[in-house]
Amino acid sequence: MSDTYARSNLAAIDAAHHLHPFSDMGKLNADGTRIIQRGEGVYIWDSQGKRYLDGFAGLWCVNVGYGRKEIADAVARQMNELPYYNTFFGTTTTPATLLAEKVTSHAGPHFNHVFFTGSGSEANDTWFRMARVYWSAVGKPSKKIVIARKNGYHGSTVAGASLGGMKYMHEQGDLPIPGIEHIGQPYWYGEGGELSPAEFGVKVARELEAKIDELGEENVSAFVAEPIQGAAGVIIPPATYWPEIARICKSRNILLVCDEVICGFGRLGEWFGHQYYGVEPDFAPIAKGLSSGYLPIGGVLVSDRIAHVLINEVGDFNHGFTYSGHPVCAAAALENLRIIEDEKLVERVRDDIGPYFGKVWGALGEHDLVGEAVSVGLMGALQLTTDKASRTRFEKPDAVGALVRNNALANGLVLRATGDRMLASPPLVITREEVDEMARIVKIALGAAWKELRN
Ligand code: PMP
Repeated sequence: MSDTYARSNLAAIDAAHHLHPFSDMGKLNADGTRIIQRGEGVYIWDSQGKRYLDGFAGLWCVNVGYGRKEIADAVARQMNELPYYNTFFGTTTTPATLLAEKVTSHAGPHFNHVFFTGSGSEANDTWFRMARVYWSAVGKPSKKIVIARKNGYHGSTVAGASLGGMKYMHEQGDLPIPGIEHIGQPYWYGEGGELSPAEFGVKVARELEAKIDELGEENVSAFVAEPIQGAAGVIIPPATYWPEIARICKSRNILLVCDEVICGFGRLGEWFGHQYYGVEPDFAPIAKGLSSGYLPIGGVLVSDRIAHVLINEVGDFNHGFTYSGHPVCAAAALENLRIIEDEKLVERVRDDIGPYFGKVWGALGEHDLVGEAVSVGLMGALQLTTDKASRTRFEKPDAVGALVRNNALANGLVLRATGDRMLASPPLVITREEVDEMARIVKIALGAAWKELRN
């Protein structure tokens, strides 16, 4: 390790100079930050040499696991050959073009084009602008408003945070921007009341129809949603939800946007979440698993309906980023997709490790603290409760979630807590033994939390 990385006072340097995303910096500086130094497979090691099973794949992104030398080598090759060139003025690079072909080959057959970005947030900003350009080009310039969902997450740029429905984000800086409306989320456990999940799924989907009526169909551009809400707490919609949403979008001529930033690239046991739910979106923002997080890259899959207009009628689309289709990031993504294909990781999640994880994770629902233990593929949540039968919630959900998370961490497992939901999203290469290890540590963490709560 070079001297630059060997400095022992990194935590102090970090506190002095580094502002972290989504962090209370005063508290973080007082507590001290963990420094992660190495990764291999599903494991990461911190600067104290402590090993953790990363049950969260970094930030829902390290789909092929850590330490893939093939990706590092592909990146080094591309770095040496051409570290950067743009895709603006009539040029492209080999990796950018080949990645466009590869990534669209795995999406639904109506997706044959992709616009590259540097992140998931930029991907959401991109379709937001492209949708308006599309409607103007087809003679419906009034179709501008986007309907999104409470507790959706679509990034942290001004448009991304506005499309998202996170109250705590809107509160900082006068968001959402105009032209974005939010409807309810399909969170049966928390909001379904006496309705069955199936009834609730239809009811909450029909909020979309009511909102379109209220705003006027001629003013509505698109509806955006994550196939399964991630940051909100792995909210798995009732089976009745997506078919009803798709029906409404189609019958009312509203573009459907499935934000695939988390669900894409195998997490649900299909290449994309829209395939899992059998819907055909007009746009699909992607990022994370596209490169397994090895380098930053995102994009928007653009359906034939939109691409046709963009290509044949719009002329210049005045949008793009310096790093759109960055050759080194694209080379990393290409190698990552090759690994996912060659190792049949999507099929593995669908047929083998996903069902196994579902069984083991589901059994955690027997714990007294757990109201529901749900998953699709390798994306799971535990809902914490004070009483299973009545689905009663803790008075301080954040504190309870943090308690379980910190207990898991102390025992060598990274989980995420969103309020009182514990989230898991391990690398797609996780083995059965490692799934068992996850569950064993979760049980220890739940037990320790249970004890502390009773005291
Ligand atoms: N959409 C979804 C569904 C996400 O989960 C995220 C990130 N967690 C984003 C968009 C934003 O992606 P990024 O952080 O790369 O901008």
